[in-house]
Amino acid sequence: MKLNLALLLLPLTATAFSATAPKTYTFDKSEAIFKEAKELMPGGVSSPVRAFKSVGGNPVVFDRVKGAYAWDVDNNEYIDYVGTWGPAILGHADDDVLAAVTETMQKGTSFGAPCPLENELAKMVIDAVPSVEMVRFTNSGTEACMGMIRLVRAFTGREKVIKFEGCYHGHADSFLVQAGSGVATLGLPDSPGVPKAATQSTLCAKYGDLDSVEELLKTGDVAAVILEPVVGNSGFIRPTKEFLQGCRDLSTKYGALLVFDEVMTGFRVSYGGAQQYFGVTPDVTTMGKVIGGGLPVGAYGGRRDIMEMVAPAGPMYQAGTLSGNPLAMRAGIETLKKLKQPGQHDKLEANSKKLVEGIVAAAKEAGHAATGGYAGGMWGFFFCDGPVTCFADAEKADAAKFGRWHRAMLERGVYLAPSVFEAGFMSLAHTDEDIEKTLAIAKEVLATL
Ligand SMILES: *Cc1c(COP(=O)(O)O)cnc(C)c1O
Repeated sequence: MKLNLALLLLPLTATAFSATAPKTYTFDKSEAIFKEAKELMPGGVSSPVRAFKSVGGNPVVFDRVKGAYAWDVDNNEYIDYVGTWGPAILGHADDDVLAAVTETMQKGTSFGAPCPLENELAKMVIDAVPSVEMVRFTNSGTEACMGMIRLVRAFTGREKVIKFEGCYHGHADSFLVQAGSGVATLGLPDSPGVPKAATQSTLCAKYGDLDSVEELLKTGDVAAVILEPVVGNSGFIRPTKEFLQGCRDLSTKYGALLVFDEVMTGFRVSYGGAQQYFGVTPDVTTMGKVIGGGLPVGAYGGRRDIMEMVAPAGPMYQAGTLSGNPLAMRAGIETLKKLKQPGQHDKLEANSKKLVEGIVAAAKEAGHAATGGYAGGMWGFFFCDGPVTCFADAEKADAAKFGRWHRAMLERGVYLAPSVFEAGFMSLAHTDEDIEKTLAIAKEVLATL
């Protein structure tokens, strides 16, 4: 309710603000294209959060991207902290990735048959991610999560799954309960069109609260405990190691599998994901975003005995015409090769820390309540007093202020995720200079909010 009200008020406040702000950018072409897009596609977009609904104003329409930068169709330049929602961890349009994909493309764009690049990427994923002994590639994170939930049910012979309020696992029916970011941004508790039967086996626990997990596990018949091991879809929330270890221990105690949805955190918070970063190993892991290097890829993997349930090794069916696509495999391989170099994640984390600590300090100096955090190449902050440890805490953040902040940063050349409930993404292409420039702009903006 509170959220819906904020949504209604936002466009007004954002407009009022723009009128008085020193506007340096104009968006004529973006506005014309988006206006047409709204007639052609629902809400003018191919994925909801892109429409900027919760921050007010129109989205900018992109023309091209390179490194830490994006340019819109009006030729405005942005320092980009969305990085196509995570995949662009090397920076956009990395020269080596582009060259590799171009080379692979000469052999064709899709085989629908085994190709050696799948083995190569599979080996890299298995080497990197502690829980993964075998892997299945898909075309998106959503698909990976759909395969994963069927797998945990098939393996355990149990139906119920436990997820957490504010965690997002793609848009499959069974996960659209308290699903964070995209859904929360629109103020929808869940989505119409999802049959009750699809979600009645989905139980919701509170992030950071082990008692809430055990209470649900005690009800019996739980196939898996599924979580974002660092949350990026309630805004950025960093868990304690004790919470992750507690989920591990409780899952084992009640015969449930532990699943880390590392679609966002995989290869981003560290090369081996959040499971390596925190030293807690799940049974099954989902991946996406970074492993496709900017092309559509997802994957799920885990212990060999579990993965051998998947067809055609086992009876659990899951398939995909374009899965294991050679271009996507090559983009992933090239991305991981560069990301694996020593020191890359230290650099990402140092830059995330510098940026978020700078923003929070500047916000407080300007008299705003603010709290933030980071892990590897992921970061985020909220306009409220901390700590924020679960979705309910995140909901207390000032969404109207966030909307004004977002618009003002955009108009000064900083592209941030257009929702309170999204994380920020650092790339290896972001320089100290980019971060200092961002902080200078942030200070200017925070003084006017
Ligand atoms: C992005 C995301 C997904 C969904 O991946 P898509 O490629 O958008 O389908 C699933 N889980 C998490 C944690 C994500 O961040």
